[in-house]
Amino acid sequence: MRELEYTDCPVCDSKDYEKLFTGKDFLFSQKEFTVVRCESCKVIFTNPRIKEDQISHYYFADYEPYKELRQHVIVQKAKNIFGQVFGNPHWEILKELQSHEVRSVLEIGPGSGKLLFFLKKHGFDVVGVEIDGDCVNRIRERGIHCCQGDLDKVMDEIGSKKFDAVVLYHVFEHIYHPKETLRNIYNLLNDNGIIHLSIPNINSVEARLFGKYWTGIDLPRHIVHYSKNSIKQILIEAHFEVIKLENEFFTSFLESLGFFLFKKRMPSKSYFLLYYPWKFSKHIHMKIIGSGIMKIIAKKV
Ligand SMILES: [Zn+2]
Repeated sequence: MRELEYTDCPVCDSKDYEKLFTGKDFLFSQKEFTVVRCESCKVIFTNPRIKEDQISHYYFADYEPYKELRQHVIVQKAKNIFGQVFGNPHWEILKELQSHEVRSVLEIGPGSGKLLFFLKKHGFDVVGVEIDGDCVNRIRERGIHCCQGDLDKVMDEIGSKKFDAVVLYHVFEHIYHPKETLRNIYNLLNDNGIIHLSIPNINSVEARLFGKYWTGIDLPRHIVHYSKNSIKQILIEAHFEVIKLENEFFTSFLESLGFFLFKKRMPSKSYFLLYYPWKFSKHIHMKIIGSGIMKIIAKKV
């Protein structure tokens, strides 16, 4: 129990919450964790949670954002080609940033740095903030300024530099102190700067369909489990105006199916056999079940 801690609501600090369900870390530890709902602001969060200084033990080397560091270069190249043919989320982010005339980007939690490299290649001025030391080294080797640590610890290192956009791609749900993080992001943005978030939606059809097998819950790594309402609420309180909130196509449906069928991660061969054909049905899939992932663009006001 030493690694666990009970917490007040991370969004409104209320001490009153009700237990919703118990879920399992299907990816790595196979341990069970409890998810609760705040009785005051209704936000859903993991409680008790792994203490912040212990959570790194739950980010295993083949956790998706870090995996690429250990993958063979041929596998990386093949994935890039498939990504270009079947659609790649990085292109979506690029188009979104361009539509807001963004030139400078801070990415929080870039993992192995794929999005940073991609944006740099397309002419953006990019900076990263990442906890994992191997990832930081890899990003720096490519000539990109990357601070190591949590955002609140590296604010001095970033200094007076401001950005047109701050991107958190599948990262915000991992953050222990979301209000403080948003306050820091606000201070790092230029006037009219935007925050670009991709996060799981706990109220989605996909989440309801799969329940504890839904990959978007990712216990114990996901600290807060946002819905459309709760993410809007926390952004508005942090003085952001939500200008876009929509479903984003992602791998979560297929991964959840794997957890449901195998009670652990789908064997990678069967996953890849299903993955690309399934991507062809993207538009039909999105119409019928929507998506378990939401994309949010919010502007500093
Ligand atoms: Zn609350």
